[in-house]
Amino acid sequence: MSSNNAHISGPPTDLAGAILTVDLEAIRENWKRLAAKAAPAECGAAVKGNAYGLGVAQVARALWTAGCRTFFVARPMEGGELRSLLPREAVIYVLDGLFPGQAEFYAREDLRPALITIDEAREWAAFGTQYGRNLPCAIHVDTGINRLGFSGPAFEALISNNEIMARLNLTLLMSHLACADEPNHPLNGRQKSAFDALRRRLPGIPASLANSSGIFLGSEYRHDLVRPGIALYGGNPVAPAANPMLPVAHLEGTVLQLREIAAGESVGYGATWRATRQTRIAVLGAGYKDGVPRSLSSRATNGPAQVFIGGRRCPVIGRVSMDMMAVDVTGVPIDSCRRGTRAELIGRNIAIDETAEWAGTISYELLTRLGQRFTRLYSGGESQTPKAPIP
Ligand SMILES: *Cc1c(COP(=O)(O)O)cnc(C)c1O
Repeated sequence: MSSNNAHISGPPTDLAGAILTVDLEAIRENWKRLAAKAAPAECGAAVKGNAYGLGVAQVARALWTAGCRTFFVARPMEGGELRSLLPREAVIYVLDGLFPGQAEFYAREDLRPALITIDEAREWAAFGTQYGRNLPCAIHVDTGINRLGFSGPAFEALISNNEIMARLNLTLLMSHLACADEPNHPLNGRQKSAFDALRRRLPGIPASLANSSGIFLGSEYRHDLVRPGIALYGGNPVAPAANPMLPVAHLEGTVLQLREIAAGESVGYGATWRATRQTRIAVLGAGYKDGVPRSLSSRATNGPAQVFIGGRRCPVIGRVSMDMMAVDVTGVPIDSCRRGTRAELIGRNIAIDETAEWAGTISYELLTRLGQRFTRLYSGGESQTPKAPIP
């Protein structure tokens, strides 16, 4: 990634061991691809958790520029931060619902709670009366994931309570799929049928069911609004099929030292890896403090994990430690792997879903755990769009 037109946060790249470059142009393109796929449904964006760890300030503005108008956060605090970043017309839903006694904060920041219990609905309705108007909100119904939302009977109790219903401005009926990433899972169809039955009880209210993978389950899952998260950030929503999204997070570690290991010698803590032949290794300045999972150590799930250096995939050897990790670069031409060379841990050559699998986790966790010690660069931001100098 070129860094000269990227906004730099954290220490300058030449002083950093590990660099995370977030490609905002790729995020905009991913949103456009999902929006085209979802049309005529509207395409929103899940930007909870600091936009899955990538930086909500930059990501939300990029999404807004691409045309996104509806955003989902988890916490009211995240909603408040997002509100300060986006124009007032941006619609912001808070997925964790209405926190007790906090209605005034939601109203002031123009946040729409995704209500999950009748107590929340009552509180929001009462606050609206006091405020002088019915305030907008979503109703989140649970159709089988058994996490957040109104159960079937609780939903019936809500919609038959005229006193509450008359004082809510319902702008969305939503539910969340448990198994969208497994297209053949029978729960998908059951949740969709249950959701459609509930929608018929509230005709005219816009509806939303699909997350990233849900968008690809078929048009009948897209309703009026879709809520992708991980696919915007380059995660594969249709794995194990080819990823239709562009990579967004580019993670690099710098080669600190190269060394030759004789057969029989070990590398790293615990001496868990032992050379069976003369081996050339590169030690990279990226470790678990940076968010590189320790589970990428040489006994990784389906491992060994790989890192891309000098045009080749190289296996991780020994344990990932706090500040560094070692890679077997025996096959890499000497000139392509020197002190200061950048190795790709995630990016165009090593997909985030691959690394997540080696680490025994999912792309979501890998992204959201990337540490603050990475120097973060943003490429493709509008404010950094180079304007041709006037000769
Ligand atoms: C996080 C979340 C999303 C986005 O899910 P992805 O799988 O990342 O696309 C959508 N809806 C709800 C309710 C969520 O919590």
